[in-house]
Amino acid sequence: MVPPEYVNRRRLADTFIGLIQIDSPSFREQAIGERLRVELERAGCAVEKQEYDRSFNLVGRRKGTSAGALPLLVCAHMDTIEPTEGIEFSEVDGMIRSTGKTVLGADDKSALAQILEALSVIHERDLPLGDLEIVFTSAEERGLFGSKNLDFSRLRSRHALVLDACAEMGSLIVSAPTHVTYEMRVTGRPAHAGIEPEAGINAIRVAALIVASLPDGRISEQTTANIGEIRGGTATNVVPQQVVLRGEFRSRSGPELEALREEIFGSARSIAAAHGAEIEITPTEDYRAFTIPEDDPFLQFLCGVFRKCGKAPLLVPTGGGSDANIFNGKGITAVNMANGMRRVHSSDEHISVDDLNEGCRLLLQAVTDFRGFEER
Ligand SMILES: [Zn+2]
Repeated sequence: MVPPEYVNRRRLADTFIGLIQIDSPSFREQAIGERLRVELERAGCAVEKQEYDRSFNLVGRRKGTSAGALPLLVCAHMDTIEPTEGIEFSEVDGMIRSTGKTVLGADDKSALAQILEALSVIHERDLPLGDLEIVFTSAEERGLFGSKNLDFSRLRSRHALVLDACAEMGSLIVSAPTHVTYEMRVTGRPAHAGIEPEAGINAIRVAALIVASLPDGRISEQTTANIGEIRGGTATNVVPQQVVLRGEFRSRSGPELEALREEIFGSARSIAAAHGAEIEITPTEDYRAFTIPEDDPFLQFLCGVFRKCGKAPLLVPTGGGSDANIFNGKGITAVNMANGMRRVHSSDEHISVDDLNEGCRLLLQAVTDFRGFEER
């Protein structure tokens, strides 16, 4: 076992504090990318910058010394949800938290710091392990943009550990939903509201009937739906011509997702038709669901590592997406592990130095123990 004291607790916290002070909202990862490149190179990695139209991803490669071990991919994202500018934080009694109006940025900079610390320990102690592929993605928070634009032909790993889960320590995310967003454009007929309202078809009224008819909120344990935006109308004296509705639904169950898709789009179309309005529906599948079976060897391996470190593994499903959805979709078995961050996407975001340390220890043990599995 890797001695727990190998992880330099203070250095890890300081790395994290350094990273949260570099502003890095989605698509503006340049500055943090530069810093991460330097840190990866310092820890013995060759760094490749993979640019795409809106940003870039970093891939760090570290040559292993264990003959016969298969490569392992470790991933975290560089961007943070906004607001982030002018971040204020405190470290009191072993807790690092946002003290201003911004998020802290622990999502996902706590993971970046844990990965860098684990690499530093491996480098300093020359620990024997296989090849590592470190992937730092961009614009994860905007719909997994970075991982969707990764050059997978340049990655060799068949297994990935993603550190991007806000859940109880020990949690391993084994299932995540498919996520569909949609836009509905309802078009009626404009008319003067006082002179000839009979000539109009009120798009707001039709849209309201549609909204009221749609399944909403938690549909089942595996499925959710939400209308998130409504825009339309121009003036009180005009029968409104157009309304745009934007919504989403998610499910970890394929059949439930398809049923919901039919119900939402079908009922919107029939209501629009019944009132003489036109409707144009544009769905976008943001990412696909995955489920990792309990007897999957990689999952079993991770559970074993956690137990060895004195941490009971918790296999949990999630309602959110992460880069793990994209990796799994590309045939790389990817498990997302909780790393200690709490209340993410809020100004109450925080992480304890203990959990920061614990997450790093679990990661370090996993990467040093990993040797890969025979193809089944
Ligand atoms: Zn995240």
